[in-house]
Amino acid sequence: MALIMKDSFGRILDYIRISVTDRCNFRCRYCMPEEGIDWIPHDKIMSYEDIRFLVSVLADMGVKRIRFTGGEPFVRRGFLQFITSIRREFRSIAVAVTTNGSLLERYADEIATLGLQSLNVSLDTLDPEKFAEITRTGELERVLRGIALVSAAGVPLKINTVVIRGFNLEEVPALIRYAAQNGALLRFIEFMPLDADVWSQRQYVPANEVISMFPGPGSWLCAQGVDQNGADTPNGPARYLRNSDTGQEVGIISAVSDHFCHTCNRLRVTSTGEIRPCLFSNAGISIIESLKDHDADAVREAFLMAVKHKPHEGGTGLPVANADDPGVPLRPIACVDKEEPPVGSGCSTAERHMSRIGG
Ligand code: SAM
Ligand code: SF4
Repeated sequence: MALIMKDSFGRILDYIRISVTDRCNFRCRYCMPEEGIDWIPHDKIMSYEDIRFLVSVLADMGVKRIRFTGGEPFVRRGFLQFITSIRREFRSIAVAVTTNGSLLERYADEIATLGLQSLNVSLDTLDPEKFAEITRTGELERVLRGIALVSAAGVPLKINTVVIRGFNLEEVPALIRYAAQNGALLRFIEFMPLDADVWSQRQYVPANEVISMFPGPGSWLCAQGVDQNGADTPNGPARYLRNSDTGQEVGIISAVSDHFCHTCNRLRVTSTGEIRPCLFSNAGISIIESLKDHDADAVREAFLMAVKHKPHEGGTGLPVANADDPGVPLRPIACVDKEEPPVGSGCSTAERHMSRIGG
């Protein structure tokens, strides 16, 4: 019988994000410095065999959905074959992938055969120059061609847009139209204060302001917990609005202004094989050795420990309850050192790059 992972607050943790690499072919300004980061050596990254074993243990523990992410997952050699084999071996697990879209054009045919529950493509702007500016190395047209191909092939698509003041806030209506044209579920994500060097309160846009930019504001009604691709449970962090005229749904992920932590049902595993109970915490439990040893008991124990220590309200580390309140300064998470690693062996306080943790 499957072991269900339920935390001390009754949240069922049946959704895991696994980062397959820290490497990326983009250098998004809010995620990575221009020169990249010190890439983790290959021998320190989980092998596909390690990840396969991890998935088998998770399947036994009642995990229903796994998202593979990075870094950029499609830059890791053999990723498509790996996903194909995971889909074949673990029929009960729904598989999703998050990508920057740069390689969709090349792999669209193969991706279409994977039977993904969801393909999430990050797209922050529809302006080629701005796209080149924000990604530093990306080419918008290539990504748009890739999206058109996978959309035409019927792959369930989501588009994720980080909203940044002074960069793309005015593009909210155009992005909503673009998502509708491509049959994609668009989700706007609040710019999260993960890196002290790049985040600023000035550029942060609270969810309510993003919603105020929606075209025909009176037509958008709350569609709480509904996801047209069925990929997020009602416990997930996205809330959805539905346009009563067109039926289009748009999601908002308001990690900063809403403090959705108490509904969070995610655990992350970094590419180095470290379980991270909370995106906003440096605490982690390493399972890499247990994966190499095929020690299912130890992997299970580590997950149960991570679940036990998953904070109820980890929070962004920001010292405010109301991010709209201009009177209280927001501080990036990297400035805040408030959490201790969970008790137990193998814990660490590694750095908090989104590309490392697995976004
Ligand atoms: N490379 C893939 C991609 O870009 O989709 C997957 C990894 S990326 C780290 C996952 C997501 O994290 C992307 O949608 C990216 O926009 C988002 N992200 C990175 N830094 C962020 C931040 N500071 N605030 C909000 N979202 C962020
Ligand atoms: Fe790469 Fe994704 Fe980070 Fe952009 S957001 S640098 S595409 S990992």
